[in-house]
Amino acid sequence: MKSYSEWKSLSETLTFRDKAFINGAFQPAVSGETFPCINPATEQLLAEVSSCDAADVDLAVANAKAVFKSGVWSEMHPRQRKQVMLKWADLIEQHKDEFALLDTLDMGKSISEMVGIDVPDAIDCFRWTAECIDKVYGEIAPTGTDTLALIHHESVGVVGAITPWNYPLMMVSWKIAPALAAGNCVVLKPSEKSPLSALRLAELAVEAGMPPGVLNVLPGFGHTAGKALALHMDVNVLAFTGSTRVAGMLMGYAGESNMKRVWLEAGGKSPNLVFADADLKKAAAASANAIFANQGEVCIACSRLYVEKSIKETFLAELIEAAARFQPGDPLDPATTMGPMVDGAQLNTVQHYIQSAMDEGGQVVMGGLPDYQEGQGFFAKPTIVDGANNEMTFVKEEIFGPVLAVCEFETEEEAIELANDSMYGLGAALWTENLSRAHRVSRKIESGMVWVNTWGEGDTTVPFGGVKASGNGRDKSLHAMEKYVDIKKVMIRL
Ligand code: NAD
Repeated sequence: MKSYSEWKSLSETLTFRDKAFINGAFQPAVSGETFPCINPATEQLLAEVSSCDAADVDLAVANAKAVFKSGVWSEMHPRQRKQVMLKWADLIEQHKDEFALLDTLDMGKSISEMVGIDVPDAIDCFRWTAECIDKVYGEIAPTGTDTLALIHHESVGVVGAITPWNYPLMMVSWKIAPALAAGNCVVLKPSEKSPLSALRLAELAVEAGMPPGVLNVLPGFGHTAGKALALHMDVNVLAFTGSTRVAGMLMGYAGESNMKRVWLEAGGKSPNLVFADADLKKAAAASANAIFANQGEVCIACSRLYVEKSIKETFLAELIEAAARFQPGDPLDPATTMGPMVDGAQLNTVQHYIQSAMDEGGQVVMGGLPDYQEGQGFFAKPTIVDGANNEMTFVKEEIFGPVLAVCEFETEEEAIELANDSMYGLGAALWTENLSRAHRVSRKIESGMVWVNTWGEGDTTVPFGGVKASGNGRDKSLHAMEKYVDIKKVMIRL
């Protein structure tokens, strides 16, 4: 790992791709408009980035559709398509420090998380998905000897992808790797708060041999570029990660336009259940990580902690001790465990919910309201609020920041009921040394993912996604590939 001063000097040498990437070339938005990209740790301008809108979307989608039809990618031999994507992964690896810096500067997460988690995860996603290209087979249905029924997996055409800012490179990779592997063309709109790594990624795709126009990146706002993409008649599948509010809007846009398939990875308010028979030290360390990693800007953050009453005080003391390792600081310093919030609006949201927790009777036992100083970055404090319950606003609503609600329960049934008492269903963690309880409870939790005696662990081979208002799709694993293909039957009478 590089030192603080090495990362700082490297960051000063970076150049930013600040224009839309359409048909293999950077170009300004049709309107000529730009928006500022701000480093949230310093509040300094990084770049003025092209602000795309419906005109750019029309251009990129029309071009992507033509490239798809030409077959240069969709009909490329699977082995060759795989080689291009593997080469692309190699190039990302060669530029791994640059990618780490791009997201750290753009949205404030610590460089150590970028180096340890985001960048290797993205590379692995591209490699693993590339390897699937020539290993996934079609099917023959058991229809009897007088017919032959073939089931083909066909590319869908143009895939629109809309992504958030909390794991910019990683979220983009989870969408575009399987969409491209399946032979589609992609028009990606990254978050306006973190467009820089996606633009560099697209440039490297062409360098790796991906034909121009297969992957296009349109930086811009949701209500302009994002909405136009979602409403476009020639976008066949829309893949989204972001808030539940916007996810609902996208379903509406699909209905208003061409009934495109919409895959949604949306918000969360994940529960964390600590039973009295758990290894409390391990549970405390992981519970702190589950809410304070990445400043709490994590869709699977376990923001609702439910502790069995008999061990509540002991556990809370352990938790506060474990949480002390999360201290806000310059994200370029490898020793920093928490960067700033992505922007002033997100810091205000955090402040609002801490205030609301106090107003509704919660006791702040660590952290508290932010001490914001203009021009010094949008830093929040890791905050723990005791005396919480499911009726309180900050326990119900997603904060997307470092604020933990501590609640208690007395029985296993009550723990399950409290955990499921939420509109969301993304992740859940539970801590117990009782194997039967671990299985029993994990089956009863209403969520797409459950972690037992761990939190947040994943693998490219394992699906990621939620139920209820947390969405419908799955990223990663072969299940992600299913989202980007059409199933066609061909029935032949012999
Ligand atoms: P957001 O919904 O505000 O924005 C996400 C994307 O949607 C951005 O690119 C934005 O520009 C775009 N957008 C906004 N309005 C739009 C519109 N009207 N039409 C089309 N596009 C529009 O979310 P965010 O603040 O970027 O990200 C935080 C949210 O993402 C949280 O709720 C978090 O839980 C969720 N998230 C979910 C997962 C998951 O896998 N389930 C992963 C990461 C983040």
